[in-house]
Amino acid sequence: TEEDRALLDIEGFQDEQRTEVVLPVVAIVGRPNVGKSTLVNRILRRREAVVEDVPGVTRDRVAYEAEWSGRRFTIIDTGGWSIDATGIHLRVAEQAEIAVEMADVVLFVVDAKVGATDDDEAVVRMLRRAGKPVILCANKVDDDRFEADAMALWNLGLGEPFAISALHGRGSGDLLDKILELLPEESHVAAAGQEGGPRRVALLGRPNVGKSSLLNKLAGQERVVVDDLAGTTRDPVDELVELGGKPWRFVDTAGIRRRVHQTQGADFYASLRTQAALEKAEVAVVLIDAGTAITEQDIRIVQQVIDAGRALVIVYNKWDTMDEERRYYLEREIERELVQVPWAPRANISARTGRHTDKLLPALETALDSWDQRIPTARLNAFLGEVVAAHPHPVRGGKQPRILFGTQGGTRPPRFVLFASGFLEAGYRRFLERRLREEFGFEGSPIEVSVRVRE
Ligand code: GDP
Ligand code: GDP
Repeated sequence: TEEDRALLDIEGFQDEQRTEVVLPVVAIVGRPNVGKSTLVNRILRRREAVVEDVPGVTRDRVAYEAEWSGRRFTIIDTGGWSIDATGIHLRVAEQAEIAVEMADVVLFVVDAKVGATDDDEAVVRMLRRAGKPVILCANKVDDDRFEADAMALWNLGLGEPFAISALHGRGSGDLLDKILELLPEESHVAAAGQEGGPRRVALLGRPNVGKSSLLNKLAGQERVVVDDLAGTTRDPVDELVELGGKPWRFVDTAGIRRRVHQTQGADFYASLRTQAALEKAEVAVVLIDAGTAITEQDIRIVQQVIDAGRALVIVYNKWDTMDEERRYYLEREIERELVQVPWAPRANISARTGRHTDKLLPALETALDSWDQRIPTARLNAFLGEVVAAHPHPVRGGKQPRILFGTQGGTRPPRFVLFASGFLEAGYRRFLERRLREEFGFEGSPIEVSVRVRE
């Protein structure tokens, strides 16, 4: 029967409880126009064949989840970012450096038709220092005539060039096989400090919101600097801070403490930094300056946390600067700009005076509990039965899609899969998501609801 078939799929799907491990990371780096984004699309397209849709995931991102031969990994794409014509020389290597920091395996893409340029050479030097596994992709080898161009890239000293055509798919299967060969099961970078170790927190926010002030306040004298585990950079990356008698690992604090002031591409670096920290973190604290209007960038950072599927706490800092009028406007701004995260715990603090910084710990704990939460299948289905009975999906074209079964496929964040007899409209899926939250809470965690349709 239909239901039996759905159950079979569910069994297959429950293997994905392995989503609880941190997926290994592949970073794609290279000069503009060598074909990085094309390659990312080539790799991702294979996955879109799966009948699965996650509502509301349509934004610019740098990280995507990919799959090949049944193994899943995260791809970091630096190609989607627009870069000014000025100063590219330095920035290609710098941009690559940040991506490489997060990576387990690096795909270095070179345009075989153009050959290696000075920029490419600069990236090669950086890659040598980083000491991560590198696959050299000689792209735009659309047919045999260009094989010789690819072979010329042996000169870069990175081993055998993989001749590929990202555009036409030539060689991409072999490339993916090679990636899997080099990729660890679980991210070494991200797995560091996991397994019962301290929980990992990222402090995020636009420049000058008070990240480093808050870190100093929380750390006090107790600060322990942890050397970068990957050993790729000289700067300390993580710091252990004791809160409520337990150590917490604040990740990627080098980017917070080092006051980098890039005049060009500052947003770009900020986004990559944020992404880098999110890759390693379980929960993000997004700081917002309560004293000034909420900005696009604040909203974008919050969205990045949701896209990365991390737990979220929002902290309104500089509360000492607030007056009645500003408070009024702030609440209106929150209603207007942050409607997508009514579920995030909130703390109004002053990193300067220490006001309410003790509220951070319970907020972190709540968010992480939600992130880890698992709803038993029987309870979930009892709930779905009630909701659907009271509010059935509207009839469309004479048909009424029914929900056959639901299961929680994974945690961190909670992911639900609903098996339905027909396509569920976006509005109805949002309704179900809202009801799931009303029933089970999930305060501080994004949740994902995907639908599998049995025709
Ligand atoms: P990025 O800036 O590195 O992300 O490069 P894009 O992916 O945007 O590609 C830059 C240009 O190169 C686009 O016009 C692509 O269509 C083209 N391109 C990418 N891969 C190939 C390829 O394998 N062969 C050919 N002929 N063109 C390609
Ligand atoms: P970061 O760039 O996010 O790390 O921000 P900083 O921690 O360096 O803070 C930027 C500026 O804001 C500094 O001048 C801080 O003293 C100030 N600042 C940070 N927290 C507060 C606060 O709670 N109240 C006030 N009035 N100023 C603050």
